[in-house]
Amino acid sequence: MPVKQIVPALWEGLMDLLYPEGINCYLCGDKIRGQHTYGVCPVCRKEFIFVGEKSCSMCGKQLDRAGLCSDCRSFRHYFDRAYSLCVYDGKVKEWIYSFKYAGRSYLARPFGRMMAERIKEIGMDRWVDCVVPVPLHRKKQRQRGYNQSRLLADVISRELGMGKARDLLKRIRETPPLSGLTRLQRMETMEGAFYMNGKEAAVKNVLLIDDIYTTGSTVNQCARALKEGGLVRVYVFTLASGKDI
Ligand SMILES: [Zn+2]
Ligand SMILES: [Zn+2]
Repeated sequence: MPVKQIVPALWEGLMDLLYPEGINCYLCGDKIRGQHTYGVCPVCRKEFIFVGEKSCSMCGKQLDRAGLCSDCRSFRHYFDRAYSLCVYDGKVKEWIYSFKYAGRSYLARPFGRMMAERIKEIGMDRWVDCVVPVPLHRKKQRQRGYNQSRLLADVISRELGMGKARDLLKRIRETPPLSGLTRLQRMETMEGAFYMNGKEAAVKNVLLIDDIYTTGSTVNQCARALKEGGLVRVYVFTLASGKDI
């Protein structure tokens, strides 16, 4: 097994050992009695508002109708199409926070598997050559110990048998947290934050994986770097997206 694949395999093995699926709910910790979805109990599962047909036809954000959201009517994106699994709200918001900042890296398993299921339903796995996670800056990844988007991309690639290009994108500089910033400030902050690292001739279309889509500034700059690097199509799938703002 190539060295690059050993680490995710070890991580998976360790997770199996520490957090065996179906005993306690990954999210609330309660004992699971009966049915569960990827280790998530029915009560927690109900907290997810899954994005359906009534969503933006460009960025995939939930709307109360079909069509384009106000954001996509005013701005062009570099990516070709984005989708999200669920709405970034309520308990889901808390869980994603703990996934990112409280060391609950094992949540990549239920989250990644739910994402994989939806990606397959849409058919996105057939549109692309591989998955690419949004990179964290080296320093941030060292502090946190992991990159949550990379863990999600690992689970998705394993579930769907898709290739992954974990190091195709690099983060040039550190960026401050985007929460609380306006759309314009977010755009300015993320401008030129990424570059594409080399190119494999076989890779033309990719699926970019991230945790949250708010105004899309991060994935948009990633898509820009990938297209400037010669890729043809960049699709995006995120765990959760904010409501239309
Ligand atoms: Zn639960
Ligand atoms: Zn939109």
